[in-house]
Amino acid sequence: SRRTRNITHFMQERLSTRVLDILRDMGRVAESLGYGAYVVGGFVRDLFLYRPNEDIDIVIEGDGIAFAKAYALEFGTRIHTHKAFGTAVVIYPDGFKIDVATARLEYYRSPAALPDVEMSSIKLDLFRRDFTINTLAIQLIPDKFGRLLDFFSAQKDIKDKAIRVLHNLSFVEDPTRVFRALRFEQRFGFTIGKLTAALIDNAVKMDFFKRLSGRRVFTEIRLILEEDNPVPAIVRMGDFDLLKVIHPTIVINKALIALLEEVRGVIAWHDLLFVETPCMRWTVYLMGLIHANDMATCHEICRRLELATRYEALFCQERAAADHCLQQMEHRLPASAGALYHRLHPFRAELILYMMAATRVKAVKKAISKYYTELRKIEPLIGGNELIALGLTPGPLFRQILDAILDAKLNGALATREDEIQFARRWAADAAATASQNTDDKQMS
Ligand code: ATP
Repeated sequence: SRRTRNITHFMQERLSTRVLDILRDMGRVAESLGYGAYVVGGFVRDLFLYRPNEDIDIVIEGDGIAFAKAYALEFGTRIHTHKAFGTAVVIYPDGFKIDVATARLEYYRSPAALPDVEMSSIKLDLFRRDFTINTLAIQLIPDKFGRLLDFFSAQKDIKDKAIRVLHNLSFVEDPTRVFRALRFEQRFGFTIGKLTAALIDNAVKMDFFKRLSGRRVFTEIRLILEEDNPVPAIVRMGDFDLLKVIHPTIVINKALIALLEEVRGVIAWHDLLFVETPCMRWTVYLMGLIHANDMATCHEICRRLELATRYEALFCQERAAADHCLQQMEHRLPASAGALYHRLHPFRAELILYMMAATRVKAVKKAISKYYTELRKIEPLIGGNELIALGLTPGPLFRQILDAILDAKLNGALATREDEIQFARRWAADAAATASQNTDDKQMS
């Protein structure tokens, strides 16, 4: 039957030998302890969607911690355990990690939505998950290796491209699932099922989210903003009237969507050019989302989401400063590369990207891009030691000389260290001449 389909060859086709070997080894260790073992959830879902996923979640019918210890002993891995939850993380020498959880009937309180029916512990574990598409499990015990368990029509919903909850109280149990529904819907190009959409409408109408801490809401919003392309999920949040969990003033309209698309373009540009230094993309999107709000409202939003003070400074004061700078630049472009540099140097990368996205003046966007790609990293090649070696005495003069070198470099002069030393020598000599000129002038008068 469909419920006991064996997908071993399917796994062999799509998984690395390393992962396959690990899964087989885990099945063997579990069996030696008399336990059941399954790989479950997102990993199995993504196997069916042909999406690479190395986040392996194992569920043990038995004692997950005892299992992890036995596995670690045999295979020389480290483990972290959480006794209270019966969970463990297996950590390989190269940093690869696998999560292990325990499924035990007596471990769970009977879920609200479940009348007194008997369920195997793995089935109950899967029943408590968010969406049907996340309820697939693959047996790992040697005799049954590769058998697929599909208690809740996950294969059908994957085929139908549908996001569905398992029961009507799902969002009552955990309102954060609403955000997860939108995130998965857009990530996979699925559609939230009719009943599930009605349950979301109800959750919004009854404002289930007021029970959630700001931190939990923020965590979910951040996950949405960190998706490859968060814009459709944000629009969907607007459809469901969910942006009010950030603030009631935020509404989706053409202008906001255009701004978010600009943010996306700028981030793509950034990630392409600066692979090594990824930016905090979620912050740039959130700046876009709240850009029309005044300072007081921005503070209110940050407090509601329980953001750390450094983020509050970024979203409020620093963003306001960036908006102000942008206004000035749109009024008049900085006259030189040096002036451009000094204007933009105070702002961190995320604010620079926000400014590039927010401006509607092409020349300003171009100037900011020039700053970011060409000017930002420019600095003198020489320092105080070289000035001392020239026979100069450390003091305020040093700062002046180094600033003058920076300005010359920003304007395209002084290619080499030697050029800079020459420049410093001349600068110091001129300064000395001016100084003695001044003394002469004084003596003459
Ligand atoms: P992602 O790629 O975003 O990590 P994932 O499906 O692997 O997606 P995780 O957040 O890592 O999701 O969660 C792992 C599994 O735990 C999921 O497959 C899901 O079944 C379950 N899960 C996570 N959060 C919830 C929740 N709020 N309610 C019920 N089940 C959840």
